[in-house]
Amino acid sequence: MSTVLNEVLEANKQYVEDFGEKGDLALPPARQFAVLTCMDARLDPAKYAGLSEGDAHVIRNAGGRASEDAIRSLVISYKLLGTKEWFVIHHTECGMELFTNEILGDLLASSLDTATFDGEWKDTGSTPGSDAGKSIDFLTISDLAGSVVEDVEKIRNHALVPPYIPIYGYIYDVKTGRLIEVEAATKIGQIK
Ligand code: ZN
Repeated sequence: MSTVLNEVLEANKQYVEDFGEKGDLALPPARQFAVLTCMDARLDPAKYAGLSEGDAHVIRNAGGRASEDAIRSLVISYKLLGTKEWFVIHHTECGMELFTNEILGDLLASSLDTATFDGEWKDTGSTPGSDAGKSIDFLTISDLAGSVVEDVEKIRNHALVPPYIPIYGYIYDVKTGRLIEVEAATKIGQIK
């Protein structure tokens, strides 16, 4: 069995033993807020934002970007499950700053093996590639604070997002764990 698979299942056994009363949690998040953030393994929203099971919705993707799918989740989050405040949290040293659509499209066209990075991306894979990546917008980031502003603005202006939900824009500093406000984003995200 895969080492990781084994470790995960072992960890889960322990989690089940300590599960306590969590089976009684309600479906709607008790603290009525949602966080959209990056999938980066260094970020743990439960820890950096003080969440326990049942507290809040956490929506994660590469970059913490306001993709159509992220907005789909946010709409369900307020409309059916009652969240009243939202956070968009990007972070320093995000991998999404390290490539462009063109670079990733070319890497995927070269092979479907993992590429290497030593200041620039290189593909030395041996599997056949595919051009399918060339038509995808990977929502890369060139300006970190600007990307938070852009995403808060996109959510704020979405037809299915109500004006009374405040959207806060933050950057998580991977060197200190601190959340730093992007004031221009929070300003755009304020209730109307
Ligand atoms: Zn990231």
